[in-house]
Amino acid sequence: MKSLITPGICLAAIALLLHTGLLAPNITLVTSAFGAATVAGLLLAWRFHSSRIFFALLSLFLAQQAIAYFSKGHVGTGPGSTALAAAGLLLPLNFVLLSFQQEKGFTVSSIAPPSLLLFFQSVIVAVLCRPDAAQRALHHASARAPLPFATLLAFAAAAVVLLIRYLLFHKPVEGGLLWALAASLLSLYFGGVGRIPTAYFAASAFILAGAIVETSYLLAYHDELTTLPSRRAFHDALLRLESPYSIAMVDIDHFKRCNDTYGHDTGDQVLRMVAARLARVTGGGQAYRCGGEEFAIVFPGKITSDVMQHLEKLRGAIEASTLTVRGPDRRQEMRGPDRRTQRARRRTQGQAIRQLARATSPTEISVTASMGVATSMREDSSAEEVIQAADKALYRAKAGGRNRIETAASPRRRTRSKAAGIA
Ligand code: GH3
Ligand code: MG
Ligand code: MG
Repeated sequence: MKSLITPGICLAAIALLLHTGLLAPNITLVTSAFGAATVAGLLLAWRFHSSRIFFALLSLFLAQQAIAYFSKGHVGTGPGSTALAAAGLLLPLNFVLLSFQQEKGFTVSSIAPPSLLLFFQSVIVAVLCRPDAAQRALHHASARAPLPFATLLAFAAAAVVLLIRYLLFHKPVEGGLLWALAASLLSLYFGGVGRIPTAYFAASAFILAGAIVETSYLLAYHDELTTLPSRRAFHDALLRLESPYSIAMVDIDHFKRCNDTYGHDTGDQVLRMVAARLARVTGGGQAYRCGGEEFAIVFPGKITSDVMQHLEKLRGAIEASTLTVRGPDRRQEMRGPDRRTQRARRRTQGQAIRQLARATSPTEISVTASMGVATSMREDSSAEEVIQAADKALYRAKAGGRNRIETAASPRRRTRSKAAGIA
């Protein structure tokens, strides 16, 4: 949720500073800030292959430019108000469309549709805001018109869609689009041109650029497949640890066999299932995916005897979990077609029945995991030593028959481990 809350806090802070007068930037400064945030965001988006943020920034820039160009100082009247109303409908529409677009970087298939959309929208806005059309609009617009109901409705609908998508996928881009939309609504609410509105446009561009940074952070520190913190996050966490602490190394048993039997994709689903169990570890532990089918759990402030019950609960939960997959019934494939299938094939000899013989059937998969635990008892024992001790304990758990937990303080290793301050 941090990627949703952080841009919201930033926007609230900017609003507070602007409206209490604590921050009173002049128009040159806010215009420069908007330009700088847009250029930086566009470059970041290009560098990190985020075409969605790139086009969201472009859409924001075009909206701001259209309002600034057509208003010419008359905010609530004439072509300026038409441009404002158009931005009020097109910005939420574009943000929602971009949130639904699959991120494929800067390939022709992913940049052509938003490019064409923005081009046609720009042409339509230019036609609607041409001088004679603007004259007509002048009669309808008041000096300080409130935002049209359609604008508010469009922003509210887009906000709901983006929030639902964020809650479903937890992607910073959706959170960024949502708050950038909120900032641009505030800009339109305050007239779209001038010091305060441009500051909100700058905040909107800044939030969009921030979504790229947030996405990069998430990619570096979170494993995409399992959503657990990654090996990098594990090594960062080790730097902050103070004795005593325990580390459990976890490895799925015979996972290669699972992959070979059911395929790599099903193997990935099994990894996700195990990771979901590990993520719910009790006793103050935090699980990390170290790579492949190996995980680590860190228990700050806990010694081996404190964590055993929590690990045992996890081991049992993994053993009890099952994954139902639909696929070719491999048990049948291995045994060959049964007699009923053979009879059916003889009866019809047709293509349809041959497909029936290969019909999919649900298969339940379950795996077990082995664990090795070690505890750092002394301030000067390094995390590397603790991990090594936990790895050795894991090796013994594998050698001892798997689906079990071994501790570093086993009778054979006690003397050497004690000397290193590891239990
Ligand atoms: P053991 O009980 O001794 O641990 O046996 P194992 O087969 O689990 O051990 P090993 O480490 O040899 O095999 C790990 C396998 O995990 C090898 C590789 O195919 C598979 N693997 C590693 N990363 C992934 C992944 O991201 N997805 C899938 N599906 N498989 C993976
Ligand atoms: Mg392994
Ligand atoms: Mg394994």
